[in-house]
Amino acid sequence: MTTHREHEEVVIPRLRPGSELTKYPPSDRWDDWEEYDAKAWPDRIKNRYRLVPTTCFNCESACGLLAYVDKDTGVVRRFEGNPAHPGSRGRNCAKGPATINQMYDPERILHPMRRKGPRGSGEWEQVTWEEALADIGGRMRKAIQEDRHDEIMYHVGRPGEDGFMDRTLKAWGVDGHNSHTNVCSSGARVGYATWMGHDRPSPDFANADFILLLSAHLEAGHYFNPHAQRIIEAKQKGAKIATIDPRLSNTASMSDYWLSPWPGTEAAMLLAIARLLLVWDTVDHAFMRRWVNWEQTLSERYPDRAATYDNFVRVLKEEYAPYTLEFAAEETGVAADKIEAVALEIARAGHRFASHTWRSAGSGNLGGWQVARALWFLHILTGAVGTEGGTSPNTWDKFKPEHWNMPPPHSRWNEMLWPIEYPFSHHELSILLPHFLKEGRGRLEVYFTRVFNPVWTYPDGFSWIEALTDEDKVGLHVALTPTWSETAWYADYVLPMGISAERHDTHSYETHAGRWLGFRQPVLRVAGERDGHDYHRTYDANPGEVWEETEFFIDLSWQIDPDGSLGIRRWFESPTDPTRPVSVDEYYGWMFDNSVPGLPERAAAEGLTPLGFMRKYGAFEVDKDIYEVHERSVDGAEVGLDGLARKNGKAVAVQVAPGEVRTGFDTPSRKLEWWSKTMHDWGWEDQAIPTYLKTHVYWRDMDIGGNERVLLPIFRLPTLIHSRSGNAKYLYEISHGHPLWMHPSDAEQLGYVTGDLVRINTDIGFFVIRVWRTEGIRPGVIAASHHLGRWRLNDTRGNERWSSALVDIENEGTVWTMRQRKGIEPFGSDDPDSSRIWWKDAGVHQNIVFPVHPDPVSGMHAWHQRVRITPAEETDQYGDVVVDTAKSHEVYKQWLELTKPGPGPDGLRRPLWLHRPVKPTPDAYQV
Ligand code: SF4
Repeated sequence: MTTHREHEEVVIPRLRPGSELTKYPPSDRWDDWEEYDAKAWPDRIKNRYRLVPTTCFNCESACGLLAYVDKDTGVVRRFEGNPAHPGSRGRNCAKGPATINQMYDPERILHPMRRKGPRGSGEWEQVTWEEALADIGGRMRKAIQEDRHDEIMYHVGRPGEDGFMDRTLKAWGVDGHNSHTNVCSSGARVGYATWMGHDRPSPDFANADFILLLSAHLEAGHYFNPHAQRIIEAKQKGAKIATIDPRLSNTASMSDYWLSPWPGTEAAMLLAIARLLLVWDTVDHAFMRRWVNWEQTLSERYPDRAATYDNFVRVLKEEYAPYTLEFAAEETGVAADKIEAVALEIARAGHRFASHTWRSAGSGNLGGWQVARALWFLHILTGAVGTEGGTSPNTWDKFKPEHWNMPPPHSRWNEMLWPIEYPFSHHELSILLPHFLKEGRGRLEVYFTRVFNPVWTYPDGFSWIEALTDEDKVGLHVALTPTWSETAWYADYVLPMGISAERHDTHSYETHAGRWLGFRQPVLRVAGERDGHDYHRTYDANPGEVWEETEFFIDLSWQIDPDGSLGIRRWFESPTDPTRPVSVDEYYGWMFDNSVPGLPERAAAEGLTPLGFMRKYGAFEVDKDIYEVHERSVDGAEVGLDGLARKNGKAVAVQVAPGEVRTGFDTPSRKLEWWSKTMHDWGWEDQAIPTYLKTHVYWRDMDIGGNERVLLPIFRLPTLIHSRSGNAKYLYEISHGHPLWMHPSDAEQLGYVTGDLVRINTDIGFFVIRVWRTEGIRPGVIAASHHLGRWRLNDTRGNERWSSALVDIENEGTVWTMRQRKGIEPFGSDDPDSSRIWWKDAGVHQNIVFPVHPDPVSGMHAWHQRVRITPAEETDQYGDVVVDTAKSHEVYKQWLELTKPGPGPDGLRRPLWLHRPVKPTPDAYQV
């Protein structure tokens, strides 16, 4: 074999003054890139690479990556940023390059495995993909034939793709999409959706004058790296930043204002700012008059008032009169002058006011969804909606291409996902699944957990273990996962799925005021195909037999319906040869040929097919500088007496002035709904306008003078990935500890010093953790980060040894205990770094000690906990966990009592206009 790793004398050209180093290899040389091996210095060893783009899978941002595939060895040497990606623009956070660890981790799952002993015993045997597909597909076929569609459930953690699984579930005719959203963002989504239909914001950070964050956007926010770089760009241009967070996050530390309120009081502060804007009259009346549903509000909520805009402004002033600065300061614990200063900044910024909230307060509190509603109210008042430097609805900045051969919607309704008690839940009530199974609301024949680890990530993990180990409740558990997880341990099949460099997906996110499409691809397959190799399936090119969901689900669908008699196979047949499954080239080739505007022309200009272009660059910019989409005119729609313009019976626009028919927003009125008629009609009139709701961790209800405190358990470490970074050695070397943040005043009052072990007692049990005294947290509030506390039950099998503690779990009746036998230690493997591990602390699994707290409106799990802090007892050890699942079921029932079950108007299970994943036909909404 010839080698390109040759020693040679090199003359290094000197940079001329004023010239710049090339930041990235130019794309015309990506197929044959040469550079010198930095580690070999002072020897000059030249390496040759093929650079293949893909997109990162290590958070929801999908930044571009470039894989450096070594042309001699055929392995990936490293990952860097992809400069052709419009969202990330060549930059990544630490988690992007750490993809290399995940790819070549000596502990990773390389082959499909089936359990041998009882479920959870940790005994596995290797099987072929064909065997796994035949068994799983056969059981699904039988369930579908016997009309047990609801016993098939696909439960996704990190989706990382847009539309493929929706299509697959439609083709199966199964209402089985379950997600992680109600431990993540259901709260904020309902707050935004009730205003505008769209369920999240898209701030134009880069052009803002003032940025208000209720999250840690510079370190861990939604679309973290793409947003962070644009926030810093704005800051460099002079923008000011305010962060509302009880904890001094890295983001707060980079801000001009840090406002540290009592958890759950954020909406009071935001409404006080709204009141000030009204009192100062720093309001964009032209925008409000045109776009807020004030006529409907006055005629239906305030019928005694004449329907004039001035009366509407009067109503606003009256409704928010109680939210004085003094009230807000007392309620939140934040100084009045600080709140006023932020209000002034917002007023000054006007249309260039950008904001974001996603998890944070919206996912911590009972009623947290109103925080997003109150925040968006500030945009309505200032008119900073869809403006340059303002904030748009997310869908304006997200591009969703059509998928090939799309099946029609199904007509089923799965009550275990969309229970009648929660008509407004933004996504599935996924946290309640173990309780629904316990109550006998249903059973599961085939349950897929896909990049999903509820035993560890969710609250109440022992209830999940109880459900997953009961074969009457869960017939077959299939874990589709790139890494080991606590949940995969309780599976029947553990099927290795690719990381970002080993799979196909398309996706697009609202990272800025523009739209792009990203293409994830298996880089070794792409590189091999360029070298003339022909692969049957992606697992032929990936490490071991690691596969990808796209091909897996195409082949599985074929197994469910091998002869086509169920009507499923036809959705997966190749368009050129129906006797075989559609290939990924055919699938994505159709998408790029037919549903991405501008891509065919752009590709042709470079002499490429659209698929060839996406394989070369990994991303395509569809358009940029998108503003004021609501003002786009709509032609050809018939305007009714209600002012709505309809096409095919569906409202698509609204008449905002004589002769002016505009797109508007995704609400029933096509306007921004300060008062939500839908909420009124469904019995939530008291919450139908932006308001402040009392949280379940309300500070005045707590014995702060004693040992009660509010625990914030949801802040993320910027360098870890929920439960998927366990095999990323770079990342664990950076982050491997999560002490309990405690303000010095609390530490002194309670008598603790840094390093003391304490018990944190929740309503269902306790965990033992070490104290860290810090002024970076509000007094009365304690916090411990998410991400750490990983565990395994066997020394050499299960979760990776880079990151997990070896534990014993014992169970007596409904009481479960967990104790760490040892923390992280060096171990022998093919990777010499594994013997150099120097960190020891695996952390404490706190989520498992939290009961479920489903918000009665949004369905969001309210993560914050009212806890008692007590000293660790003599026999306690760091990391101890004790939980009683009978108590957790009781707490579930208490929160269920807060709901207002459907059906609502017209016998519906849920308002028809609200979004939901894999939306069924309207008749399925009827009870
Ligand atoms: S922000 Fe980091 S982890 Fe997330 S997609 Fe980008 S590089 Fe990957």
